[in-house]
Amino acid sequence: MPTPERIVALTGGIGSGKSTVADLFVQRGACLIDTDAIAHSISEAGGRAIGPIRERFGESVLAADGAMDRARMRARVFADSDARRDLEAILHPMIRDEADQALAADAACRAPYVMLAVPLLFETMGYRGRFMRALVVDCTIELQCRRVTRRSGLAFSEVNRIIAAQISRPLRLQLADDVVSNSGDTVDLVPQVARLDAIYRSMETRHEYR
Ligand code: ADP
Repeated sequence: MPTPERIVALTGGIGSGKSTVADLFVQRGACLIDTDAIAHSISEAGGRAIGPIRERFGESVLAADGAMDRARMRARVFADSDARRDLEAILHPMIRDEADQALAADAACRAPYVMLAVPLLFETMGYRGRFMRALVVDCTIELQCRRVTRRSGLAFSEVNRIIAAQISRPLRLQLADDVVSNSGDTVDLVPQVARLDAIYRSMETRHEYR
């Protein structure tokens, strides 16, 4: 498994551009482990989280095919902090476990460094000690709202509610080791990613897996 020295945690608010930025690092040879994608896969029909979710929340939060109904679950946990805590207690250890398995796989071991995408990195603190640097993708809150409503069709008020539940923009920036600014055009990301890629490659400790 790559040591934390070769792991960069990628975070940022909803719609800030994490996936867009992660793609650019992957194009340069980084290995991406996306905890959001893991969360989706374990709550798909037949996923390992479905049994415990059914046990705690009942059939009403499951879709006809047996997957977690994300909209219904979102409504449920926003209205009930105990439900939110219980859902996190089910999902987070499983996500970390799957992330550890991905970190132990060949792709991660061979890559010059690993991007571990964790949307709620600073909110949950569950990845403390597992990465070398925290990279924050940042853009204005207005742009976050605009991009997310366009992408997902969620109402503006819903997006604002999600943003309000996340760590504040100033605090996130304060906790960052590195920042990619995504308030401009996507082409502006390219030189920023190139500069950081060079830095992250130099974190490499080849002797550990040669
Ligand atoms: P996140 O992964 O942080 O939620 P995404 O990378 O999915 O964010 O970006 C959110 C949406 O905004 C996507 O539809 C993406 O294509 C778009 N987007 C990202 N960066 C920009 C940009 N600089 N200009 C315009 N649209 C962008």
